[in-house]
Amino acid sequence: MSVVKDPSSPMYVPEKNREIARERARQHTEMISDYLVVRDKIPTGFNQWDRIQKQKNHILKILGGAEKDWDNYKWHYQNAIRDTGILRRIIRLSDQDIRDIEKTATQYRWQISPYYASLIDPEDRDCPIFKQSVPTVAEYLDKEEMKDPYALVYNSPAPLITRLYPDRLIINVTNMCAMFCRHCLRKKDISFKDMIYPREDIESSLKYVSDCPEIRDVLITGGDALMLSDDTIDWILTELERIPHVEIKRLGSRMLATLPQRVTPGLCKIFKRHKPLYLNTQFNHPLEVNPESEKVIDRLIDAGVLVGNQSVLLKGINNDKNVTKKLIHELLRIRVRPYYIFNCKKLQGIHHFRASVGEGLNIMENLRGYTSGLGVPTFIITAPEGKGKTPMAPTYLLNQNRNGKLLFRPWAGQVCEYEDEDL
Ligand SMILES: *Cc1c(COP(=O)(O)O)cnc(C)c1O
Repeated sequence: MSVVKDPSSPMYVPEKNREIARERARQHTEMISDYLVVRDKIPTGFNQWDRIQKQKNHILKILGGAEKDWDNYKWHYQNAIRDTGILRRIIRLSDQDIRDIEKTATQYRWQISPYYASLIDPEDRDCPIFKQSVPTVAEYLDKEEMKDPYALVYNSPAPLITRLYPDRLIINVTNMCAMFCRHCLRKKDISFKDMIYPREDIESSLKYVSDCPEIRDVLITGGDALMLSDDTIDWILTELERIPHVEIKRLGSRMLATLPQRVTPGLCKIFKRHKPLYLNTQFNHPLEVNPESEKVIDRLIDAGVLVGNQSVLLKGINNDKNVTKKLIHELLRIRVRPYYIFNCKKLQGIHHFRASVGEGLNIMENLRGYTSGLGVPTFIITAPEGKGKTPMAPTYLLNQNRNGKLLFRPWAGQVCEYEDEDL
């Protein structure tokens, strides 16, 4: 019998009593009404896919590529866009824009993969993809003093290693990337030459890991870990697995957003042999999430790789609660788990991208409770001198009394009291 008519059912609620819940449901819907208005107007890689495909064909023509070249990441490496003459045939740029790009390029290199270029709205100078990839004079004019952003002196106990924590560390295997993000923290490093670091240095870093029985989690990053060849990735993962105390391996790569073609079936076949393997990537805007990204994430998941996202809070790109929420929803749909949102550091050349910590907290305030907990990342500021990632969260705990009472504020307001145990 239907629960509607069966008072003995645990789910039975008399129909007339449902009005209370219905009223609350209306209030809940009202709480996201601003999002519901803009939800379908925010551009995403899915809803702009036709435009992106058109640009793809246009770019292939300009670069003299064939349809099959587009799926070949090496073709994208070879045809990386670094030339204003080519860029201006892909997107609309004024003569002043060209002069600005060239002036900025004297200080910071730029490089855009043809794939990422296809995501740019060619007519829109405010396009968040444009802002992340095309140099602007704001970078050149930013004279913010540069300090050592990751304080190698304090944090690099062995070649290529960055260690900030007790049980995990980073091996920096390269400074190379498929695209040079304009907001890159390591702008300074990419201004020099492209390097995959020598095998002997990687061996020294592996030796360090092997000598530290407390290290159970090793992150391979750079630069971009997927700039390494399949063979080198396979070798490093194999070597790490020979160290008995290494329990998990992680890769850091932005390529799911900037060159998803890199995630080939061949690479995934290698990944499949290296469980447990985590990959953290960086999507910053819903326009970066499209059917191509979905396809390679399906491939990664089939290979048993767990994919997380670390985005950067960027002014004019995603410092908006609705854009961030949309990004999170798009990521969950393609099975990428939002992990971190980083506040943008104060470094030379990226000042114009900085949003305040307060803005970040506001965005966080509008996620918890308002959307799936699965999609709520941790907002992080990175402490100076390598003192570590530090979570910043809205304050929910209001008062912690000694007599076993807590005062707190749930997501939707209305202060509550909670009976706690004594310490
Ligand atoms: C970010 C980072 C890690 C990983 O930190 P989690 O919070 O565990 O993701 C480890 N080592 C270094 C040096 C890092 O910068």
